[in-house]
Amino acid sequence: MKSKSVMRASALLGLSGLLVGSLALAQTKPEETEVWKPTPSVVTPAREAGGAPSDALVLFDGHNLDQWVSTNDKSPAGWTVAGGVVTVDKTRGNIETKRAFRDYQLHLEWRIPADITGAGQARGNSGVFLASTGPGDHGYEVQIVDSYENATYVNGQAASVYKQHPPLANASRKPGEWQAYDIVWRAPVFGADGAIARPATVTVLHNGVLVQDNATVAGETVYIGKPAYKAHGAAPIKLQAHGDPSAPISFRNIWVREIPPRP
Ligand code: MG
Repeated sequence: MKSKSVMRASALLGLSGLLVGSLALAQTKPEETEVWKPTPSVVTPAREAGGAPSDALVLFDGHNLDQWVSTNDKSPAGWTVAGGVVTVDKTRGNIETKRAFRDYQLHLEWRIPADITGAGQARGNSGVFLASTGPGDHGYEVQIVDSYENATYVNGQAASVYKQHPPLANASRKPGEWQAYDIVWRAPVFGADGAIARPATVTVLHNGVLVQDNATVAGETVYIGKPAYKAHGAAPIKLQAHGDPSAPISFRNIWVREIPPRP
């Protein structure tokens, strides 16, 4: 007659044997979980962080605004290019890309003047519209403004999705220093009836800090009231000439990579 401990041990051995057997049946070879095709496209990264990779469309490399037009009349963009940077000309209004985009990865760098004046929204205000859907400020704005020790409503500070999502952190550098946005934009999808089928989403890194994490966009940016969608297709990327009286800001090193839509 077996002792209780021997019976318990043999029961455990039997159970573990069953488990090992079923695992061996489910996974017979490591190759069964390897995927070889299709191979990802080869992209040569820039030598320095923030540089344009090999498949990027360079929108501004410091020399000219050939990729840009004035938003309101589509005439050549009239902002000031000097010393490798472009500075907003508030008398000329917003500028936008000649090309239209759907989903993309965007890099841009901006600088608030060191001697900036003003307070709140009237201190270095500009912005990047991820899709320009019409004249003026129509579109979806990620805010640019001096948010270094400059309080304003949090869903209107730098790196906010304006009037929708405050940034997850305030990663602002001091006025006079260059700052970077790296943005992943997933354009909204509309049904055949023009109704929104899948809202836009946006991810933003501000100076390398995650500040918008796949945030769902509620509709086009509006200053007063609630955002709403209206159907549109591929759209330009737009930079804002804001009417506040503070000194204009500058941009440099702007590039975009189109990416496939989500399945
Ligand atoms: Mg703005």
